[in-house]
Amino acid sequence: MPKDKKVLIGVILAVLAASVFVIFNPFRFTAEITPDTQGYSPTNVPRAVPTYVEAPEEKYTFSSLVRQVKAGEVISLHVIENRVTVETADGKWSSTSFGSGDLIERLISLGVSEEQLANLEITYSIPPPFWLLPFILVAGSFIVFAVMVRRSSGTSGPLSFGKSHAKEVSDGQLITTFEDVAGLIEAKEELMEVVEFLKNPERFTALGARIPKGVILFGLPGCGKTLLARAVAGEAEVPFFPISGSEFVEMFVGVGASRIRDLFTKAKEAAPCILFIDELDAVGGRRSGFGMPSAREHDQTLNQLLSEMDGFDQQTNVIVIGATNRLDVLDPALLRSGRFDRRIAVDRPDVRAREAIFEVHVKGKPLSDDVDLSKLARATPGLTGADIENIVNEAAILTARHGRKVIGNTEFEDAALKVVAGPERKSRVISEEEKRKIAYHEVGHALAMHFTKGSDPVHKISIISRGLALGFTMPLPEEDRNLPSYEWLVGQIVGLLGGRAAEEIVLGKKGITTGASNDLERATDYARRMVTEWGMSEKVGLRSLNPLPDAAVMENQFRDTRSYSDHLAETIDAEVKRILDEAYDQAKEILASRRDILKKVVERLLEVETLDRKEFLTLVS
Ligand code: ATP
Repeated sequence: MPKDKKVLIGVILAVLAASVFVIFNPFRFTAEITPDTQGYSPTNVPRAVPTYVEAPEEKYTFSSLVRQVKAGEVISLHVIENRVTVETADGKWSSTSFGSGDLIERLISLGVSEEQLANLEITYSIPPPFWLLPFILVAGSFIVFAVMVRRSSGTSGPLSFGKSHAKEVSDGQLITTFEDVAGLIEAKEELMEVVEFLKNPERFTALGARIPKGVILFGLPGCGKTLLARAVAGEAEVPFFPISGSEFVEMFVGVGASRIRDLFTKAKEAAPCILFIDELDAVGGRRSGFGMPSAREHDQTLNQLLSEMDGFDQQTNVIVIGATNRLDVLDPALLRSGRFDRRIAVDRPDVRAREAIFEVHVKGKPLSDDVDLSKLARATPGLTGADIENIVNEAAILTARHGRKVIGNTEFEDAALKVVAGPERKSRVISEEEKRKIAYHEVGHALAMHFTKGSDPVHKISIISRGLALGFTMPLPEEDRNLPSYEWLVGQIVGLLGGRAAEEIVLGKKGITTGASNDLERATDYARRMVTEWGMSEKVGLRSLNPLPDAAVMENQFRDTRSYSDHLAETIDAEVKRILDEAYDQAKEILASRRDILKKVVERLLEVETLDRKEFLTLVS
């Protein structure tokens, strides 16, 4: 359970417990007032007096009280409404009712002298105001409710939870333009149209063209969706309202819908403008139709979003840009024409785009001459724009830490390694023997890659532990591979199995370690996909045996999601095993016939801990 919820439940329970205690508390004490008239109280010291006393052995009546007062046995009297509690000199407490009227007057009328009364301490209490309790409970509940809403919505006032938290970012603050977005050429071209529309809507409306209402940017996190949306607003010089879809996710039915209404009202007032909903899937996921309160809240919020978008007319001039990593989970109604009907893929950058992103982010930073951004771009396949921004930032931090004035190639390479493989863990204790095993494993990868046709060139080998890895071998592909070939895939598997092959060759079957677990996982994944997705096994043929996507699996959760026979399943297993076995034999063959090279590279690696491509090539040639 989240910590916030625990605190909340704790507060509610505490309020309830306190209320129950106040109402039923058998030990309650009353507020005490001492009359300042007539001088009946000799001490005037307020004391707590129990209003609940044990039953006396014989019935204590008002006459008993009068008798005891006259006999001088009473020390104090404590009065609450028409009841008096009596404390006698022998330390006993008794209690009796004296009916209506004033106690003192009644005692005097029954023959108690003023002198006898003067020796007593008489105090009066007002009963606790029980009639206030309902008010206290209501006020307490309101405070708890307000705290709850404030916690869940982050708003400052208990009454503002139905309002959206989108803050307008306008003119002066919008300094992002398409120039700041590197790569993503097609996405920018598509969005240029939106910019045009925001700048000159008449050009389109004069021709009767329907203006786009919504655009969805979809793709992996960190690839520049938010950046693109900001750039559209910057280019069109219109206000920008960014909000995250998760801000509409509430536990109270109707709050999300009311926030949507408020957001669209704000946007319409500021039109022309861009309304940017990040994490659109949080608010736009498929409607379930189930009656759970959370599902009802979600459905209501989404319905509100749909109807607000339908409410746009030709004059509205508000464009809604949504961003999501999961296009497949969005409700189909959101994607139909007239709503988010433009879908733009924002994909991982290719090698040229990565170089361009490096260029955008190094702008204004002092670089040394040895920095080669195109090489860095090649060394970072699969990384996103956010990763690259991170590398540049890390490189600048490292430079400052080294006390240098310009960022050099070493800092960039170290920063890239840190982002790709995690930070160095120099403090990790590794014995000499283990270090040697790691070195054999890594050089095994490197040699298997180097001597397999179609494999990527080796860029770096290291036995410095980083993140969870004890060592790594980094390839440097010449270019991004959009269409991996059979040869390349086999080369990848041979390279991955090279580590285990080296261990077996040098340490024997009994000396192999667990270090290959991640390699085996990746190699198996390649082999399985070669057989089931890419039609690369003759025995299985060209059938696509793709597993169902997540959403389909969810919908078919009680059905068998496999669409092939047990016999074919066995063939698939056998084929995956065959590909792995053949690749492993190939890796062993490469290494067994080059044991001298393997040893030479390992010795050097143990000396320097990290080998770059140049030195590696010298050693293997
Ligand atoms: P999420 O899905 O997590 O919201 P996103 O796709 O919206 O991610 P952004 O927030 O736009 O990603 O990108 C994060 C950062 O990465 C940006 O602030 C920017 O510095 C950098 N970045 C990403 N892509 C690019 C790019 N194409 N050009 C320049 N910088 C980029």
